[in-house]
Amino acid sequence: MKTLKVRIEPNSSQRKVIDHTIDANRLVYNSLLVACKQVFSEKRELPSVFDLNRITTQIRHNSPYVKDSYSATLYETAKRAHEACKKTLGTHRKEYGEFDIDLYEFNVHGDHFPRFRPKGQFNSFTYPTARDYSVEYVRKNGKKRRMLKLGKVPGLLRCYNQDTVIEGNLKTCTVKRKDMGNHYEYYACIVIEDTPKPYPEPAKGPVGVDIGVSNIAALSDGTVFRNDHIFAKMAKRLAKLQRQLSRALFGSEHYKKLLTRLNHLYEKINNHRKNNTETISAYIVKNHDVIGMEDLSVRALRRISKNRKMTNGYNDASLGTLVRRITDKALSAGREVILVDPKDTSQLCSQCGSIVKKDLSVRVHSCPFCGFTADRDVNGAKNILRRTLAKINGMARPSRSLS
Ligand SMILES: [Zn+2]
Repeated sequence: MKTLKVRIEPNSSQRKVIDHTIDANRLVYNSLLVACKQVFSEKRELPSVFDLNRITTQIRHNSPYVKDSYSATLYETAKRAHEACKKTLGTHRKEYGEFDIDLYEFNVHGDHFPRFRPKGQFNSFTYPTARDYSVEYVRKNGKKRRMLKLGKVPGLLRCYNQDTVIEGNLKTCTVKRKDMGNHYEYYACIVIEDTPKPYPEPAKGPVGVDIGVSNIAALSDGTVFRNDHIFAKMAKRLAKLQRQLSRALFGSEHYKKLLTRLNHLYEKINNHRKNNTETISAYIVKNHDVIGMEDLSVRALRRISKNRKMTNGYNDASLGTLVRRITDKALSAGREVILVDPKDTSQLCSQCGSIVKKDLSVRVHSCPFCGFTADRDVNGAKNILRRTLAKINGMARPSRSLS
C-alpha cells in the first residue's frame, strides 16, 4: 500500500461541490457524535458502526442538504466518528479507569469525548472505493494530461504530480482542503495497493545507524547526514512575518495575505524536513541489507531537550519519522532491521571497547587507550553495528572485525 498525494485544482463550480460535501460530512460527523454520546449514557457502550450507518441513512433521508452530497463518503465519516469515540474512550480508560458520562458533563477529567467540529475545522472526506472516483487521461495540446474524476463533482479535475506513475489497484481517495489564509488548497490522497518493486541487491553489507540531532544519521561506514537546521535558517523570516501579522487588523485582507505567506513558509519547512527523511532512509535501505538501530523511544529523547533552540533542532531532524520510514522501506525491500540495546553506545570506544566518558557537546571521539579518533556519532554507529552483528550471530562477543 502506498499513498499518492496530489494537489488538485478545482474550478469554482467543482469547488462548490467539494465544499458542500465537506460540510455535509461535518454535519453527519457531529450528529453521530451526539448519537454516540446518547447511546453511551444509556447503555454504557458505544453503538456499532452498523448502527451509526443506519443513523446516517436516516439523516440523509431527513436532510436534503446532506442528501445532495455523495452518500458513500458519509458512511466513511460514520466509521471515522466511531473510531474517534473508541479512541478517546480508550485513552480515558487507560488514564482514569472506566468512563463515566455523568462526570463527563461536569468536565471532571477534562474533555474526553471527541469534540464537535465547527466550520473550518473539518476538512476532508473519503471516497471508499475505486468505483466512486477514477483517474482519467486527456490529450491536451498534444500532451497527455492526468485528470481526476470524483463522484458528484462535475467535470474533470486538474491535478499536479503528473510524473508519478500510478500502478496497482486504486483503493480509497481522500479529498482534503487546507486553509492557507486567503485561499484554500485542495489535495487528493489516493491509496494504491501495489506489489513493491524489488530493490536492487545492496552494494554494502550490514550497517549500524546512529540517529541524533546534530547528525540526523551517522552510519558505521563513516557516512554522515548533518542536520541542516532549516528552522533556524527560516527563523528570521518567520519572526518578521509573525510580527507583521500581530500588527495587522484581524480578519482584514492584509491579515489574510500575511497569514497565507506564513502558511506557505511553514509548508516549505515541512517539505524540506520530509525531503531529508525520505532521502536518508532511501539511501540507507538501498545500500545495506541489514540495518541496526538503537531501540529507543524518540519521545524520551525529545524530553531531554532543554530549550526551544534544541527542540527546533529535534523537529528539524524529525527522528520519529525517520525511524518509521527506514523500518517501512526496509520491510518493503526485504531488508532486515535489528534493534539493539542503546546503553553506552556513544561512550564506548568501538576499537578497543573501553569507556571514554564525554559530554554531549564533545563532538569527536578520541580514545586515550588505543588512539582511535572518529566522529562521535560514527563511533556510536560502529558500536551499534557490533551489537547488531552479535545479535545476528546469537552471541554477545564483541570480537568480529570491523572496517
Ligand atoms: Zn579505544
